[in-house]
Amino acid sequence: MSRRPAAPGRTGPGLRLLLLGVLWLAACADAPEPDTDRLTFYAFGTLVDVTLYPAGVHDLLRIESELGAELETMHGLWHAWEPGPLGRANDRLAQGEAFDAPPSILELIERAQELEALTGGLFNPALGRLVAAWGFHQDEPAGPPPAPETLAALLEAPPRMADIERDGTRLRGRHPDLRLDFGGLAKGLAVARGLEQLAELGVEHAIVNAGGDLMTMGRPAHRAWRIGIRDPRSAQVLGSVELGSGEALFTSGDYERGYEWEGERMHHVIDPRSGRPARGLTSATVLHDDPVLADAAATTLMIAGAEAWPRYAQRLGVELALVTLPDGTVELTPAIASRVEFQREVTSRIRTAEAEPAP
Ligand code: ADP
Ligand code: MG
Repeated sequence: MSRRPAAPGRTGPGLRLLLLGVLWLAACADAPEPDTDRLTFYAFGTLVDVTLYPAGVHDLLRIESELGAELETMHGLWHAWEPGPLGRANDRLAQGEAFDAPPSILELIERAQELEALTGGLFNPALGRLVAAWGFHQDEPAGPPPAPETLAALLEAPPRMADIERDGTRLRGRHPDLRLDFGGLAKGLAVARGLEQLAELGVEHAIVNAGGDLMTMGRPAHRAWRIGIRDPRSAQVLGSVELGSGEALFTSGDYERGYEWEGERMHHVIDPRSGRPARGLTSATVLHDDPVLADAAATTLMIAGAEAWPRYAQRLGVELALVTLPDGTVELTPAIASRVEFQREVTSRIRTAEAEPAP
């Protein structure tokens, strides 16, 4: 999430065309269809692209102002590094004093605790200090990476989500280094909230797409929503997938936020085992009807790596996932194989992966 203020704005035709081009390349938004209207916002450090179906029937000015305000509110609520409810909660958690947490944060804490347990700690939003040590709390992360002593100290007895004690709405932190960073799952909740708000405004069919992480509601008559899946190593798409109503598609990749340091790509998905950017996969994409799970699962699969990702997908109850490897191979679960239409040149690099049966 970025420090830049959310700047909702309906774009003029020229800029809108340009933006659509950028979104197609950078975020793999669905191809623009003439029967939809589009609004573009800036929130969570990314462009949020809203597609409404059918075209011409919605009060776009009202939607723009109300959804823009809601996105801005969510950005403020869940930003770990700005003064705000999460910043205040973080200060209190670190001090170990009991306090009443606002509902907006409780929901994320609850999900994060459950996800940390399910992933054996690979997904751990209590590691905000580690993420910040790499510089990923900044708008434009540029390094340097943390010194070896700093990393060693952070990894000695790292905080876990389970170090937050909860009694109703009262919380108490049990670890001085605990710092919540919801960057790995808040977008999931944000797209869901965005769609809820659109529904309240009378919209029945829409996509809310936050920089390539998106969820659908309803669907156009006579066709599905068609979404491109980006190839992390080129400006092309690997292929496309058709989504029905209420489906979320989330991707985590090494190309998103990061910097080059001594020839190595340092990106913002951190493996808690090494304390370093996850290695082994270039991207992980998850399709699920729970957007928070889809968001966190994509991050987790990136961390799990080339060997273990099918096992973690299974643990998380994710049946529809695909990952890309540095050599360009695409690995996917059997269930998603039939849903993705790959570009012809990609088909020779595809491999189906099955999780070994649980012991
Ligand atoms: P994006 O926001 O680009 O879609 P992700 O969903 O993969 O990317 O989230 C990456 C963010 O998740 C990081 O910026 C950081 O805030 C947070 N994060 C990094 N490592 C972890 C981890 N091991 N567990 C939980 N959250 C993490
Ligand atoms: Mg994520």
